[in-house]
Amino acid sequence: MISNCPECGGTDVRRSHSQGSEKIARYLFARKHFRCRECNARWAAVAFELEDDYLTIFLWAGILLAVCFFVMYFSGQIT
Ligand SMILES: [Zn+2]
Repeated sequence: MISNCPECGGTDVRRSHSQGSEKIARYLFARKHFRCRECNARWAAVAFELEDDYLTIFLWAGILLAVCFFVMYFSGQIT
């Protein structure tokens, strides 16, 4: 789901590739960049799409598992 351009309200909007550090937010928060073909504005918005963002789910599952493991480990439940 892609919203209208925040600058001109145009609907001719395409996804823009994330660059550099933007990739961290891209994979952690499904925050994507968009570009308007009408006024060339570029902006970021959180847009979760399952087929695109399954990596985000795996990432958070991994983080949660790691947190659970550390909590159990340091509370002595795993010997
Ligand atoms: Zn625009």
